[in-house]
Formats: sequence, C-alpha cells, structure tokens
Amino acid sequence: MSRTKVIPIPVLGRHAVNAHLLLGRHPVLVDAGTPGSAGRILDAVARNGVDPADLRLIVITHGHLDHFGSAAELHRLTGAPVAGHVADLGQYRTGRVREPYLPTGRMGRLMARNRKLHVAVDPFEPEVLLDGELALHEFGVDARIMPTPGHTAGSVSVLTDDGDLVAGDLIANSFMGLVPGRPANPPFHDDPRRNLTSLRAMLALGPARLHVGHGVPLDPERVRNWAAREQRRLDRAAAAGRLRVRPAEPESEPGRGSADGPARTA
Ligand SMILES: [Zn+2]
Ligand SMILES: [Zn+2]
Repeated sequence: MSRTKVIPIPVLGRHAVNAHLLLGRHPVLVDAGTPGSAGRILDAVARNGVDPADLRLIVITHGHLDHFGSAAELHRLTGAPVAGHVADLGQYRTGRVREPYLPTGRMGRLMARNRKLHVAVDPFEPEVLLDGELALHEFGVDARIMPTPGHTAGSVSVLTDDGDLVAGDLIANSFMGLVPGRPANPPFHDDPRRNLTSLRAMLALGPARLHVGHGVPLDPERVRNWAAREQRRLDRAAAAGRLRVRPAEPESEPGRGSADGPARTA
C-alpha cells in the first residue's frame, strides 16, 4: 500500500468551491468544478507536478454544476475517463441539474435564485458508470469510491486506504467555507435524512479527515457531534411534516437507466 496524498484544488475563492487531486502511483482528479474552470483546475494540477495528460480518472461526486460543470472540457483536454454514478446519469447526459433545488436553509433559498445554478453545461457520458463501490487500485490510487446517496441520488465519496475521505457535498463548512472548520449542511440536499445516513456510515469507517467541496478539511469528531444534533433536528422536522424530500426517480427511465457504449458497471 502506498500513501495517497489528497490535495485541494481551489475552483472558486480560496476554498469556496474545491476539486481534489489524489496523488498515488498515478494521479486521479475528484470533481470538475464550475463551468469554465477547466483551465484553472489544470493549472493547479500542473503546479502540483502533474502533467494533466497523466490523469488516470476524473471522479464526479454528484450531479451539481459546481462539481461537474467542467467535466466534458476536462475530459477533452486530458483524455482521462470520467466516473459518475448511474443515479445522476440524467444530469451528466443533459448537462442540467434536477430542478428545483431543495434548500436546507436560508442560504440555499437565496442561492436557488442565482441564474448561474440553472444553466445547461456541456453534457458528458461517464465511461466508468458506478452502481456500487469501486476500488481505484487499477487507476493508480489506493482508495475506493463509495456511494453516499442523499445530497443527490447519485452522490459518491472517495475513501483512501490512509483514511482520507473526499466527501463532495455530504457535509460542508458553515456558509460555504466562510466559517472554516465548522460543519454545516451545504445549501441543498435532495434527501437530508438519507444524506445524514450516508454521512454517519462514512464516519463509522473511522476516517482521519474529511475533504469537502466547500470549505477546509473537517475534523471527524466535530462532524460526528454535528451529525448527532442534526439527526435529532431532522427527526423532529420529519415528525412535524416539515421535511421536503425529492421523490426517488423510477429505476429505468427511457434513455437513462442503462448506458450504451463502453460503459462499465462497478
Ligand atoms: Zn452539491
Ligand atoms: Zn457543491
């Protein structure tokens, strides 16, 4: 087992929106930033001593524009295959998010009005279609992709054998990183309780650090305490009928449920 380094790649601001670079025997990129950020991401990759053409895989954590916005362009520029979960395949194939966004609080209600969160971006076809865990050893890093549904149905996280969890939007920093180190919900969750179940399942695996799409890395102990409080809050909200959840999509929509071409199911 070789050590896998996890390096944050700033997409917006210092850590308002992050992608992550995994450095093992070969480099793997996790997330593809907002639309139009491929150049900035690849510059940062190069500054870390990696030739973008050497990227072995681009893992997309979920179907929101700040995570897959530049996936098609990064694929074109690097030739690296893209991995995405089948439950968010509709977003990847259309270049559009599922509407409407379901806000987790005031910040999400404000952000949902931002036109930029509703644009269509270049679609892409994941060459590596995920439908379960996938070990990344053959891509050159000692890590595995784990489905962590809830934020969106097709959300995934990457857990390295060293205990670094690259968690996408499973959890965030307060105010998109303005309060660094304080765990908080990201602005939106399709299914808050399902997301929290996924988060607690990942915490149960004993990660050493949580790297997130919005903000600085989080201490698992702080996240564990936050998750216990959040569970009580969500249970109360659900009991009072105040919890909005996006209904699950039918298993096989026409043109969505299966992949044609060289897709592989993990
Ligand atoms: Zn998201
Ligand atoms: Zn995000």
